[in-house]
Amino acid sequence: MSFAFSGAVSLRGPAMKAVIASSGEQAWQLQDVPVPEPAENQVLIRVHASGVCYNDLHQSRGTPGHEPAGEIVAVGPGVRSRCVGDRVGVLLWQSACGRCEWCQRDKPLFCSHIVGTSMHLPGSHAEYMLAYADATVLLPEGLTYEQAAPLFCAGYTAYAGLRAADPRPGETVAVVGIGGLGHLAVQYAKASGFRTIAVTQSTDKETPISDLGADEIVRDGRALAAVGGADVVLGTSRSMSAQSDAMQGLRPEGRMVIMGLGSAPLEVSAGQLIMKRARIVGSQHNGREYLYQVLDFAARGKVTAVTESYDLAEAAAVRERLLEGAVRFRAVLVM
Ligand SMILES: [Zn+2]
Ligand SMILES: [Zn+2]
Repeated sequence: MSFAFSGAVSLRGPAMKAVIASSGEQAWQLQDVPVPEPAENQVLIRVHASGVCYNDLHQSRGTPGHEPAGEIVAVGPGVRSRCVGDRVGVLLWQSACGRCEWCQRDKPLFCSHIVGTSMHLPGSHAEYMLAYADATVLLPEGLTYEQAAPLFCAGYTAYAGLRAADPRPGETVAVVGIGGLGHLAVQYAKASGFRTIAVTQSTDKETPISDLGADEIVRDGRALAAVGGADVVLGTSRSMSAQSDAMQGLRPEGRMVIMGLGSAPLEVSAGQLIMKRARIVGSQHNGREYLYQVLDFAARGKVTAVTESYDLAEAAAVRERLLEGAVRFRAVLVM
């Protein structure tokens, strides 16, 4: 599998606009590239909305974007379960080898031949994208493309992380970092009935965070401990020091779920971990059941992604805003 476009292309068939990433100063450029054709078991999607995840910034080639929502406009040979006109989103992890130990154990996430959107197939910051039909998910009726898009990474990650902590009735959930993932994590914890505490240094976010339903807002792990601590801490910040700091607020037998991916190492006090018999859990997209529930929460109006929309042509500027930390919750490119 390789990127369909890189460098100069000669346009014979129909063309489309797509963001092309490079590692240079002009890191994202809008280019005219050919509209791809669906191969066997693939569909062609006209992308209507594409959420911008922080991980897009690490991509140095091909088309970034792995939070797509759009409409199927063509199906390749062998596609039976999808048809033209279906409203869909696409999984980040689209297909795997089907033969290795992890595929046999129905855990394709661990397959070394896994195919990822924007990694092995061009991503969704484009007017059209290809996806394996089996990796598309039908959108509930009434859910807009712009609302649906951020759920395919941010929402899915946040809710799967909550479930990975195996929260029990009556427990308290804290969310560290209230950005793209965190603002959804607060809402999932509330919608699931847990007392929910937001842990954030951004005091300018206090009003919008109370609007999300947080019962309390504290600045750090010490303050979290002072209000009684949390049984589950969802680490959605890219600051690894903020995540390790928050562990001070873990209650005995608490679970710390690491979702935010920073470059620094995670520092942990072994003493705290042992004395509290706490657990640290790494988590990402843990299974389609969780994505189904995420879409259902959104369709029932229980959880709302707070988005700011931009035209695809503004993608490079959106990238800058994200780097500057100027995007409050989730930026979405709309086409
Ligand atoms: Zn992502
Ligand atoms: Zn495999």
